[in-house]
Amino acid sequence: MPPMHAQRDPFVSWGWWIDRKEQWVRDPEPQLPEGSFRAIASGTGLPPIYQRSTFAFRSVRDGADRFLGRTEDGERPYARIYTRLGNPTTEYLERQLFRLEAQHVIEKALAVDEREATIGCLIASSGMGAIATLVLSLLRSGDAVLSGNIYGCSDSLLRALGKFDVGYHFADMSDLRTLERSLDAHPEIRIVFLESPENPTLAVADIEAISRLTQPRRIALAVDNTFCSPYLQQPFRLGADFVLHSLTKYVNGHSTSIGGAVLGPFRCLRDEVFPWYKDLGPTPSPFDSWLNGMTLQSLGVRQQAACDSAAEVAEFLRGHDLVAGVRYPGFSDFPQSAVVRRQMRNGGAMVAFELAGGFSAAEVVMNYFARTDTPMELAVSLGSAISYIEHPASMTHAAVPEADRARRGISPGLVRLSVGLEGAEVLIEHLDRAIRAADRTFTPSGTPFPEVGRSAAKAGDASKRDSRALIRSG
Ligand code: PLP
Repeated sequence: MPPMHAQRDPFVSWGWWIDRKEQWVRDPEPQLPEGSFRAIASGTGLPPIYQRSTFAFRSVRDGADRFLGRTEDGERPYARIYTRLGNPTTEYLERQLFRLEAQHVIEKALAVDEREATIGCLIASSGMGAIATLVLSLLRSGDAVLSGNIYGCSDSLLRALGKFDVGYHFADMSDLRTLERSLDAHPEIRIVFLESPENPTLAVADIEAISRLTQPRRIALAVDNTFCSPYLQQPFRLGADFVLHSLTKYVNGHSTSIGGAVLGPFRCLRDEVFPWYKDLGPTPSPFDSWLNGMTLQSLGVRQQAACDSAAEVAEFLRGHDLVAGVRYPGFSDFPQSAVVRRQMRNGGAMVAFELAGGFSAAEVVMNYFARTDTPMELAVSLGSAISYIEHPASMTHAAVPEADRARRGISPGLVRLSVGLEGAEVLIEHLDRAIRAADRTFTPSGTPFPEVGRSAAKAGDASKRDSRALIRSG
């Protein structure tokens, strides 16, 4: 039984939300069926690009009502005032994402004639814009946030909140006992922020079990669902209170724009998050919203193809004599495969691996893909038609202090692969060539990341063995 805390609720409408969450939001069915997902995503109402900054009011009363957040005709509050507050092209994307994450909520609420929205969505100009808006809205001085292994900039943002006297704690999200102890040891925690699968180690968090720890302690559970998109995982059904996305990834799917989204309890978004959104100004351009509205139409088909390829690439890497370890949530013997089967549609399209030759070999492999005559790009994004290979320790997770990287399994030799749409055959052929070339290359031509190379050298063989063990067992 969690200790009783005198602390405030994480947001004002918490009681209203928990009532609805228990009635309509948690769901024993973890996914929208594939056919329904594709039908909703394909959509029918993609609007034109409303390339406008401001919108004319019908009357003084109309303008005043809009500024009060009053709505009619199913519009969202604060619609058609000024594009920083909302834009019809962006609102289409809000509705579409909301349906893909929470169609079951709409159906259950409508069945009992509930008219008020339960969950809302705000689109931001980047994933970080969405994450920053949420945490700045909810956290106050004296509060704390607890996270697992997350994207480097999310990690550095949460740490930076220390200057406003907001504490930061880390927990291994796959270890529920330790997580529970951390929550009890720090009753000031107001938000648990996680990614699952984690970035870049691909460890999986049992979202439902974690929500059963956070909810009675009056802690909001925020899940960054970027690695999955709503196609692979729908965290509200598992008990999440907020769902975040970098739309830059699977939703855009072609690396042609930056975008983000925050979804959560409608009243909380309207009364507590929106005021920060309008004042911080992380608004997307109507063109980017239109682009993402268009690419969303093919999300399921694209992502499924990438996941099918990733499963083959992961198997190939695992069988390779020069590969020391591979992490892929789709492996049937993945340590948390029961959780994966319960909460994800499949194992995803992200793969992490380490070579037997450590960082030196990994550097040769990544430089192979820096060439323009090979498939893949050496680049730090994911979820695109193009496959990306990157080095978390010096790139996406460079902002995480080195000691923390080591503790979290982000070893100097870890390589992250986002599998795209080139097809498994060609990717495997080139990966094999690159890995064999690395084996032949005795000394790399000089590392562009001396500190990473140094820490690998300093740690020596023992740490290489440790990180491989971690990759295999975690
Ligand atoms: N969350 C995850 C899991 C990410 O990988 C990223 C970016 O790589 C972000 C959030 C930030 O998204 P954006 O680059 O759109 O700001």
